[in-house]
Amino acid sequence: MGRLEGKIAVITGGNSGIGLATAKRFVAEGAFVFITGRRQSELDKAAAEIGNNITAVRGDVSDLQDLDRLYATVKETKGGIDILFANAGILEPIPTAHVTPEHYDRVFDINARGVYFTVQKALPLLRDNASIIVNGSGAWTRGIPIYSTYAATKAALRSFVRTWTAELAPRGIRSNIISPGPIDTPIHGVFPPERHPAHNDQLLQMIPMHRIGQPEEIADAALFLASDESRYISGIDLPVDGGLNSV
Ligand code: NDP
Repeated sequence: MGRLEGKIAVITGGNSGIGLATAKRFVAEGAFVFITGRRQSELDKAAAEIGNNITAVRGDVSDLQDLDRLYATVKETKGGIDILFANAGILEPIPTAHVTPEHYDRVFDINARGVYFTVQKALPLLRDNASIIVNGSGAWTRGIPIYSTYAATKAALRSFVRTWTAELAPRGIRSNIISPGPIDTPIHGVFPPERHPAHNDQLLQMIPMHRIGQPEEIADAALFLASDESRYISGIDLPVDGGLNSV
């Protein structure tokens, strides 16, 4: 018997990296999973790889109509949601001096506003005792050059989660955030190879475990927060970063 037997999960950004690893883990534990993302080709690939108990619905989390379409599909086919992993996000590292209003709006629209409405629009479908998990980042805790917009959006998510913890507890709904350290996913394709976290000696020295993480290690944390094993845990920020932001 899986740890998520019979549960219905929605994962935004489920066609790549952490979201895909989590979709695989949740399905392996008995859940039915809806994934969403903008690239249909990657959604099709992910759904084919997972095989059963998966539905891919194309959508952009910064587009409210896309979120409505996603949730209409969930409602029609499964009726409700037990686990919501608001995971979709983008990383566009850029020095403050070069940030344009368009970049600023794009990062906030996807990483902060996108998460906010992913959760808000799911509220009518969330079952009692549902688990909301948000994918944050430890990046906001340090003044990392070129991360001004990205880090700020992730700091906002921490605040959202605290409010949702208080607001939704009367319905038995829990709300937690995971703060990954550097994880080996396509999001780092934006860096030249020598700045990629896996090859950045300075960064590896800062991480007490001296390695970057794997997407499956975030999926395991998400599984814990999705499962009954965390039934009395709400409002936490769970770092999964080899100790990077805890020393
Ligand atoms: P990936 O680039 O592999 O995954 C990002 C996912 O988000 C993709 O599935 C992408 O799909 C989706 N996505 C991006 N923008 C949108 C959008 N507007 N609407 C819907 N889906 C979207 O990277 P990760 O797996 O690493 O990233 C997942 C999350 O983890 C992000 O929120 C990221 O900030 C966070 N994180 C990652 C860390 C790391 O080191 N990897 C560290 C800390 C946090 P598509 O392009 O098809 O839309």
